[in-house]
Amino acid sequence: MKYCHNCEWAVHETDGYTAQERKEQALEHHIETGHTVDSSDSAIRPQVPTVCEEILLEELLEPTTF
Ligand SMILES: [Zn+2]
Repeated sequence: MKYCHNCEWAVHETDGYTAQERKEQALEHHIETGHTVDSSDSAIRPQVPTVCEEILLEELLEPTTF
């Protein structure tokens, strides 16, 4: 799943989107709100961030060319 540190936004593997679509939605949420979106392999929202924002953004931006 991908989830937001700043609000209740989240997208789950079970929502029917592809990994690419989930990544695009996460990036979209970050751009629209400036919130920090994180990803997790587990189905629940972790209590402690596992990656720093800088690395995360790199991961999110990788497949998209602006
Ligand atoms: Zn948010």
